[in-house]
Amino acid sequence: MISRRKTRKVTIGDAAHGFVSIGGDAPVSVQTMTAGYTWEIDKCVAEIHKLAAGGADIVRVAVPEKKDTAALKEILPQVSVPIVADVHFHFQRALEAIEAGIHKIRLNPGNINDRSQVKEVIAACKARKIPIRIGVNEGSIVERRDKQKRMKELGGVFSHNKNGHLLAIMIAKLEEYLEVFQEEDFHDIVISAKSIDPLLVMDAYSEISKRFDYPLHLGVTHAGPKETGTIRSVVPLGTLLCGGVGDTIRISYANDPIYEVQDGLELLWVLGLRPRIGAELIACPTCGRIQVDLFKLVQEVRKELAKEIRVPIKVAVMGCVVNGPGEAEGADVAIFAGDRKGIIYVQGERVANVPEAEILPALLDECRKFQALVESGKARLGEKKVDILPPDPIGELGSGWEKIQKDKADKGLILPVRK
Ligand code: SF4
Repeated sequence: MISRRKTRKVTIGDAAHGFVSIGGDAPVSVQTMTAGYTWEIDKCVAEIHKLAAGGADIVRVAVPEKKDTAALKEILPQVSVPIVADVHFHFQRALEAIEAGIHKIRLNPGNINDRSQVKEVIAACKARKIPIRIGVNEGSIVERRDKQKRMKELGGVFSHNKNGHLLAIMIAKLEEYLEVFQEEDFHDIVISAKSIDPLLVMDAYSEISKRFDYPLHLGVTHAGPKETGTIRSVVPLGTLLCGGVGDTIRISYANDPIYEVQDGLELLWVLGLRPRIGAELIACPTCGRIQVDLFKLVQEVRKELAKEIRVPIKVAVMGCVVNGPGEAEGADVAIFAGDRKGIIYVQGERVANVPEAEILPALLDECRKFQALVESGKARLGEKKVDILPPDPIGELGSGWEKIQKDKADKGLILPVRK
């Protein structure tokens, strides 16, 4: 169990779009950002629908121009999740978005730093109870008035950190910006401090979590393509979350934002920070023992499970019986492949032995049936989880069960008795 840092709670949304809380006792939320133009109203609405259907709790849109904030008045009534306006450079865009009914504003201290302008935005948000995210991005911070002095102070504090000078200026910028909000007694705040450097991200959020009790929006900015951005994002975000730091997350890829939502949810599910929705798929990496096209099968199973399975059934797709049964322990539904065939188990009970071409439909059929049993209360997830017995390959799969038995007996391991 991860023990989360105590923070203030911020709530965004309204009755029509639902309320999402960030921080306090609220679950960690997943957010993303549309990739298209906000002023292309129909496309923007369609993208928000897709991301919400994929599990996004909050969706952010860019509003660089007046035509974008003008579009919000038409977009907001058509969508069902809270929407955040991402504002850079022009504080008027924030005021227009607030007027249009936006649920949260993101300000970048790096490019909206005129105190009177920030105060105008704060006043408008306060009047409508709209929270503000202060997003200090390493790439867009600018020099503060007393930068040299504060940099020198903080530079010494962070001299042991990689990129300690950037960490120092991010913290200094945040402190300076927060002064304005504190002067206005405005605390409906979420903080982010993103960088492309995962180590800097971890250091920045760790330092901020020690200094302020505002909820934190975690993210790695410009993480790159999904293929490499996953590691770049998940390492720092996962590390911070495991340490109890982080109240809402956005993974960012140079790709369709639906992947940001999918990976963000998966990260929270595997850490036990949110209850899983849909099947959990376990699959072996394959090796020289494989006798079916497991990679293709796993991808097909993944796609089909996502379409039909609502309850968190644990499904295992294993290439053979050598490690399969042990590694599939805990699976509700499992398939062990062999010589162009597969044997399917449901909670320890062998239910089918089918040729390779029939594995996918047979496995899905068993998942559907098991889901119906769970939903009707006739079966429980995770029950009988250690009872999966390996099929005997001598008669059925032909890959040497006797040898496996002997090897395990030689090592003093106790084997399950085959029924
Ligand atoms: S389950 Fe079998 S095929 Fe898959 S990696 Fe393990 S030993 Fe290899």
